[in-house]
Formats: sequence, structure tokens, C-alpha cells
Amino acid sequence: MKKAIVVGCGAYMDSGYGCPGEWRCLKAASLGEGNFDEPVKVTALLKCHCPGRNTISNLGMAMKLSEIRPDVVFLSTCLANAKPDCPYYDGATQLADMIQAKFDLPVVLGTHDYH
Ligand code: SF4
Repeated sequence: MKKAIVVGCGAYMDSGYGCPGEWRCLKAASLGEGNFDEPVKVTALLKCHCPGRNTISNLGMAMKLSEIRPDVVFLSTCLANAKPDCPYYDGATQLADMIQAKFDLPVVLGTHDYH
């Protein structure tokens, strides 16, 4: 089974009106729904924190401490499809490009389409 790390938008997750990360990404990953082509094992669920300075290093730390290198990184739907866009990154694609460049891992924009 493929391994994945999911990175969510902490500003959204902490807002109280959205998804605090409790099930949507994890359900889609475990069932192979949404942007998951097949069921995957989520080895870390990471929260970005504004202004996002620690996200890359926290991602590296999650891999180091878990001793698991994922096959792919997913940016959560709340991060990838945020409206208005993240005010700190130049869109989710900038964060995706940074992750890809730093870790040489594929990055998928969005996880699920549940409401
Ligand atoms: S920096 Fe952007 S993606 Fe990260 S928590 Fe803040 S708003 Fe969300």
C-alpha cells in the first residue's frame, strides 16, 4: 500500500467552522476516494501554520521522526481549494512546488470532495 502525508491549512482547520482534520482527508485516503486513486496509508497529518514558514521543515521532521518516507504528499482540499487563497503562499501550487523541489516527492493538490 502506498504511503502518503497529508498537509492541511491550519488557519482553516482551527477556524471552528470548517474541518478540524477529523475525518474527510482520512476517509478519502482509507477508501481511495476523491483524489486518492486507491486506498493509501497516511503516515502523517500535518498542519500548516500561518505564515507557513515551518511547513517544509515540519514535513522533513515528520519523515525523520517517523522514519517513513511517503510515496506522495497531498495538500488537503481546504488548502488547495482555499477561497480566498492563502495570503502567504502564492497559491497552493507554490507550496506544492516547494515540497516537490525539497523532497523530490510528487504532490497532489486536494484530497476529497466531501461536503
Ligand atoms: S500559511 Fe496559508 S496554507 Fe498555511 S495555514 Fe496559513 S493560510 Fe493556511
